Amino acid sequence: MSARQEKDAEQATAASRTNDGPLDVVVIGGSQAGLAIAWHLARQGLRYAVLEAGPEIGHAWRSRWDSLTLFTPAQYDALPGMPFPAPADTYPTKDPVAGYLQAYASALEVPVRLNARVTSLSRTEEGFEARAADQVFRARQVVVTTGPFQTPFVPPAAQGLDESVTQLHSAGYRNPQALPEGPVLVVGGGNSGFQIAEELAAAGRRVDLSIATKLPVLPQRLAGKDLFWWLTHLGLMRVTTESRLGRRMSSREFVIGHSRRRLQAKGVRFRPRLTGTGARSAHFAYGSTLDTGVVIWATGYRLDHSWIQIPEVARDGQIAHQRGVTGVPGLYFLGLSWQHTRGSALLGFVGDDAAYIAGCIAARRRASDAASPRPVRSHRAEQR
Ligand SMILES: Cc1cc2nc3c(=O)[nH]c(=O)nc-3n(C[C@H](O)[C@H](O)[C@H](O)COP(=O)(O)OP(=O)(O)OC[C@H]3O[C@@H](n4cnc5c(N)ncnc54)[C@H](O)[C@@H]3O)c2cc1C
Repeated sequence: MSARQEKDAEQATAASRTNDGPLDVVVIGGSQAGLAIAWHLARQGLRYAVLEAGPEIGHAWRSRWDSLTLFTPAQYDALPGMPFPAPADTYPTKDPVAGYLQAYASALEVPVRLNARVTSLSRTEEGFEARAADQVFRARQVVVTTGPFQTPFVPPAAQGLDESVTQLHSAGYRNPQALPEGPVLVVGGGNSGFQIAEELAAAGRRVDLSIATKLPVLPQRLAGKDLFWWLTHLGLMRVTTESRLGRRMSSREFVIGHSRRRLQAKGVRFRPRLTGTGARSAHFAYGSTLDTGVVIWATGYRLDHSWIQIPEVARDGQIAHQRGVTGVPGLYFLGLSWQHTRGSALLGFVGDDAAYIAGCIAARRRASDAASPRPVRSHRAEQR
């Protein structure tokens, strides 16, 4: 992050605590969704800041496993206003994505506060108050962009294994060399489970992959075109969660580009649902058992919005919203899975939802300006 960005963020957030009054907008979370909305806020000339828990932009991507390869090709990985720097129809790995997000934030001079994990968000008379460590940030409107994959979920069966078994969630997996030697049980039949199982088998490990629900498997490429080309051209990326087709599509994930046959050819053994564990064993539906010393839980994530102290919006882990707009005026979400369409939590499509939320922010600002006019002020002009 440039010195200029740090200064912008410092000035913007300091202003929110002093006599300049609240910021127009605080964005909580500085990854792809946070940056996509920042692009719109900058164009609207708003006083805003992005609060990011991590030590750097792109942290969420950098922390994923070393070989992670995107299932979306480069032409479907761009945020608003800046192409992804890779040839079309190539599939970036995770570090170039993190690098792209950093370059994006720098090019746009997004005012980002790093190491600023928001631990409480509450309502005030003027709008909202976010607290991060000992700092308080006030804003008229807030966009929560803390991601669709927050708290790694591990099934209760994990507790039956004894301490001599190495267990980790896919969020903590890095590469085959970082695991103790020996066979590995991977639990979870989504994209992560398939990718990790294939990598381990290719590295010469004996791998069992336990799948509770068989997801439909779609090829990465069809008739010379990428899957997302087809989904876009067939209009399926525009199908909304309110429609009947959208409800059906959103009730089921699919696995992209992994064939069971290919994994079997590499020696991966498929197992049904894991039903329980012994001290060093895993039990599966239909009665089979496996001795195991290393288990990787590719069993997904849960949302955690317990820090949002606005009960009518966040309750029991669920967010009440329509297309990211909550019932609390001025509070929005961006980047949730199927927030509006299949693309809502994808790099190259989150920009569509960001444009919609930005429109809502502008409309609310116009309405409140009309009700009580404020002096027109340019955030950038203030700093020069
Ligand atoms: C294994 C895997 C593979 C994927 N592959 C693809 C792919 O090929 N193509 C694609 O388009 N998408 C892919 N995705 C989906 C999606 O693009 C990513 O999950 C993306 O990271 C979501 O972006 P986001 O900005 O919404 O959230 P995140 O990237 O999760 O970012 C949220 C940010 O908010 C910060 N934060 C969290 N809580 C707080 C807080 N309380 N205060 C302040 N900051 C906070 C975090 O530090 C983080 O930087 C993949 C996801 C996973 C898990």
